[in-house]
Amino acid sequence: MMSLVPQPYLGWGVRSMLHIPKDRTVALYGGLLLSDDFDVKSRYVVSMEIDGKRYFLDGNKGPRTLGIYVNHSCDPNCAMTWYVYKGTVMMVIISLRRIEPLEYLSVDYGPTYEINGPCCHCGAANCPDLEAFREYRRTTIPTINSGWGPSL
Ligand SMILES: [Zn+2]
Repeated sequence: MMSLVPQPYLGWGVRSMLHIPKDRTVALYGGLLLSDDFDVKSRYVVSMEIDGKRYFLDGNKGPRTLGIYVNHSCDPNCAMTWYVYKGTVMMVIISLRRIEPLEYLSVDYGPTYEINGPCCHCGAANCPDLEAFREYRRTTIPTINSGWGPSL
């Protein structure tokens, strides 16, 4: 069971209410599959290569799922992958390790990830921006990204 909750400094996030074993599908990443003509500025676009062709899935279009709220981390506990089910590409998020109850789910957005703000806000021990983020936290009050999403 997953919960959509505010995640400090990151907007909305997804937490697991129960423990999740390693290698489990934890969320579906819905959206509109595009081969071209996509909004490159959408932060919900993920790319995948299928049979040598690159596709882009815009999670901000089409069916919106919990998976699009999973935030970036430089030390993620999940990863994105895809499979074909009855001729349809399914983008899913899988657990890379055991995830504890109330832990936020995270994936590495990859090299195309554009940081929204002065530094990465993941706070992971291995994050290259950790010191900059600590300074940012000292001077900034966390806010919820209110552009869209459920209201509290
Ligand atoms: Zn980071």
